[in-house]
Amino acid sequence: MKIVTNPREMQNISRSLIVGGKTIGFVPTMGYLHAGHLSLVKASRAENDFTVVSIFVNPTQFAPNEDFSKYPRDMEKDEKLLVEEGVDYLFYPSATDIYPSGFETYVEQEKIAHTFEGEFRPTHFRGVTTIVSILFNIVQPTKAYFGQKDAQQCAVLSRMVKDLWFPVEMVVCPIVREEDGLALSSRNVYLNKMERQEALILSKTIEFAKNLIREGERDTNTISTLAMENLEKPVSAKPDYFLVVKYDSFESVEKLEPGEKYFLLAACSIGKTRLIDNAIITV
Ligand code: AMP
Repeated sequence: MKIVTNPREMQNISRSLIVGGKTIGFVPTMGYLHAGHLSLVKASRAENDFTVVSIFVNPTQFAPNEDFSKYPRDMEKDEKLLVEEGVDYLFYPSATDIYPSGFETYVEQEKIAHTFEGEFRPTHFRGVTTIVSILFNIVQPTKAYFGQKDAQQCAVLSRMVKDLWFPVEMVVCPIVREEDGLALSSRNVYLNKMERQEALILSKTIEFAKNLIREGERDTNTISTLAMENLEKPVSAKPDYFLVVKYDSFESVEKLEPGEKYFLLAACSIGKTRLIDNAIITV
């Protein structure tokens, strides 16, 4: 695996691969890799001639009160995992190379980015769309791999790719979970023993809501209210939202319609750690 820190060098490597008729699979990450990230790497390896993984803890997607400086990092372990997966290039730029002094151009999505996660983290998606645009222009991937774990991020980025004509195919991969149901996340490392147990409330509440729907409940207000009551149960839990939105457009709905596909979205702080989870359901 070649480690590339210079954006121009990465761009030149990608260009020459493309000129040579090769396909490039790209997996953008913030590092502290786990099996969720590696599932994206495996998918990329299976479908492309070359795989590029980036590790960049992107400052512009964190608000001042969030965990940018303490976000977990372990380059040595990440590097080893990526070598084991057979990754071809690790792109590992510095913040000053990506955002040099004088940087003043941002990519902002207007609608989906300002709802749900966007209400709780108002500047988050602007940081995400900006960094992913920059990375796409540097890496020039044929296909880019993202996790359904961040469902709204996938919706925002798919819209961006379409609106701005990025010549990239978006691939969304399923959520990888611990055996007990907790969705893997680099942030799980913040949880103490009790919180780790209590964090199961997210996946349990999603199951609880799925059951309500299976039993015939179609009113999304009722589903959200009952789910929020459930999310509140653990001592350390502070729920932000539980919502049902349309799968394609991420729009809220009042009534679930037969044959339609929806996302069940949960966001909840467990102690000081904010976690999100979701599931897809067809009614
Ligand atoms: P991050 O390093 O948290 O920015 O995540 C990098 C990519 O990995 C994103 O596309 C995430 O959606 C994806 N990802 C994170 N956790 C999981 C998971 N448990 N299962 C599948 N993909 C994930």
